[in-house]
Amino acid sequence: MIKQNLHTHSLYCDGKDSFEEMIQTAIEKEFTILGFSSHGYTPDETLGMDEETIIKYQKELKGLKNKYKDQISIYTGIEQDMLYRVKHPDSFDYIIGSKHCVNGTGYENGVDCSKEITKKIVQSQFSNDFLLYAKNYYEDIIQMADWDEVDIIGHFDLIMKYNEDQSFLSFSNRKYINMACDALDCLLSKDKIIEVNTGAMARGYRSQAYPEVHLLEYIASKNGKIILNSDCHNRKDLDAGYDSTLASLEKIGFKEMMVLTDCGFKAVDIKQFKRG
Ligand SMILES: [Zn+2]
Ligand SMILES: [Zn+2]
Repeated sequence: MIKQNLHTHSLYCDGKDSFEEMIQTAIEKEFTILGFSSHGYTPDETLGMDEETIIKYQKELKGLKNKYKDQISIYTGIEQDMLYRVKHPDSFDYIIGSKHCVNGTGYENGVDCSKEITKKIVQSQFSNDFLLYAKNYYEDIIQMADWDEVDIIGHFDLIMKYNEDQSFLSFSNRKYINMACDALDCLLSKDKIIEVNTGAMARGYRSQAYPEVHLLEYIASKNGKIILNSDCHNRKDLDAGYDSTLASLEKIGFKEMMVLTDCGFKAVDIKQFKRG
């Protein structure tokens, strides 16, 4: 049976735990595959890694991969923000491509900072029209379809983080669904893996994973590739939301999920994934 998480943060960025604390907990939780994906470069050094730190990060993980090779498969990834592409993509086992800001960088433009900030951005930069905000976000995200280094699209509909109560927009808004599905078409046509991300469930913002269920149904109807990750910033949340999300994915009709192997990504029957 397989249990995997390729979206995890550590002391190298904004995570709470060291590599070995994460690995020990992953082994206790019976994970078979663990990938680290610290944030790549950002101007805020408390959040991401500079070039020198990346080299240290890769070296340390190489040693741990070997140390724990009989217990768990360790991989070295990175979460690359769209604003700062990594300089040496081939030095990673995989790359998660994510979009965290609109109209530039900084906390005031972050889509996942707080409900208040989201309100402010929509009001001040998009004439208080959430659909315009969403359009800007998705039109940008589709650029990653042509970025060869990106394997996985992280938290595809992150702009919905503070929309659990649907106060910004109904999840069934047809115009919204169409624009998100157009973006999915672009990404899926270039074989990108769409991440099913339970991070906001662990932190209490959402009751379900990203992407929202309408979008998951669309991905399933297109036979799109998915991968389950928890965007873990605290080792206790390594498998937060996994069981209920796996059940939903099966109900929606997904038959396979992607796993990372020493020979790259491969599709595996969803029944092969450990639960409970
Ligand atoms: Zn992210
Ligand atoms: Zn992340």
